[in-house]
Amino acid sequence: MSLSPADLDFDQRHIWHPYTSMSHPLPCYPVEAASGVELQLADGRKLVDGMSSWWAAIHGYNHPQLNQAATRQLEKMSHVMFGGITHPAAVALCRKLVEMTPSALECVFLADSGSVAVEVSLKMALQYWQARGEKRQRILTLRHGYHGDTFGAMSVCDPDNSMHSLYQGYLTPHLFAAAPQCRFGDEWDEQDIAPFAALLEQHAGEVAAVILEPVVQGAGGMRIYHPHYLRRVRELCDRHDVLLIADEIATGFGRTGKLFACEHAGITPDILCLGKALTGGYMTLSATLTTRHVAETISNGAAGCFMHGPTFMGNPLACAVAHASLTLLTENHWQQQVAAIEKQLQQQLLPLTAASNVADVRVLGAIGVVEMKQAVDVAQVQREFVERGVWIRPFGKLVYLMPPYIIRPEQLSRLTDAIAAIAD
Ligand code: PMP
Repeated sequence: MSLSPADLDFDQRHIWHPYTSMSHPLPCYPVEAASGVELQLADGRKLVDGMSSWWAAIHGYNHPQLNQAATRQLEKMSHVMFGGITHPAAVALCRKLVEMTPSALECVFLADSGSVAVEVSLKMALQYWQARGEKRQRILTLRHGYHGDTFGAMSVCDPDNSMHSLYQGYLTPHLFAAAPQCRFGDEWDEQDIAPFAALLEQHAGEVAAVILEPVVQGAGGMRIYHPHYLRRVRELCDRHDVLLIADEIATGFGRTGKLFACEHAGITPDILCLGKALTGGYMTLSATLTTRHVAETISNGAAGCFMHGPTFMGNPLACAVAHASLTLLTENHWQQQVAAIEKQLQQQLLPLTAASNVADVRVLGAIGVVEMKQAVDVAQVQREFVERGVWIRPFGKLVYLMPPYIIRPEQLSRLTDAIAAIAD
């Protein structure tokens, strides 16, 4: 079924899209199919995808193995409640997650989306301290962070660039340390950790957990920082007996060149949030992993359990696809794929640093960021990109790529050429 002009008109009048106005909506492009690294528009044009549908579609679209996993599961059952019931799809997925992640992370909580994984992680931290009989309810995080759009998650997003001012008085006031300045690849500057260390020291007795995006701060500015910062955070959390939550919803599953970004620093968090690429971008699912110590402390507390249990917890369809996606990740030699993308992004994007409209360029793994001097006109730039046959969605001053790992060099060149065309 194709979308008619009347359908598109209905869309504009009745359907919210992410972060858009209902009175002055940005244009929407009708996509009718997607396969491999290409999105197919209603008029038959094909666009090379530079976004992996917001970090998710790492294997590309319409993948036969993921389709097969979904179909096979569909034939058995698409959903069944997780309360008092278990099923092979959830067990296989969680076994794989426990194997893939650091050995201390043993207990998996499956939920609906990245934001919910963050809510779950914050609730775990609060219940942990409650069970230990200490009133620790504040969360320490970094400026320029982004952790999702639900209330708990919003309360730990950057207080200046996010929605804090809109919901002032409604969000829990947490603690924000200056964002790391020392860049990935630069020489480590010990001063970089000083503001974080001072804030933690000052509030140690009231802080339940630190939450951060390891190495790459995504939607809060696409900032790529020195892994040593993370190592210091881990040491300081240990010193002050504070839990460390790593939000790897964007960075997980190879995107930064390591399976998990925490590996750049060789650290293990107490709680790990995963989402996005978990299902290869097929459907929404998240996992929050923690240690047996945290899980048992919570379980031995006053409530006697962890107080969360969404309707679609452990959705079999999503679990089956996620399991297939993780299998594919290993089979596909993602290290080579991501390393090749990184090399090409370095070759083709780093020279744009000299272009007249560009303030900065940064690359890590399969992430390429071109920061412009001015905020881009999204509607206009997007139109230019579509005319050039590519799908890139800028925000603010940031024009960035995180393509599916299966992208071919000539397809990646089309993406970088399109960015080069708006750089001067
Ligand atoms: N954490 C991070 C680091 C993210 O990038 C995102 C999504 N952009 C989220 C949490 C929220 O995930 P979701 O959109 O699936 O709720």
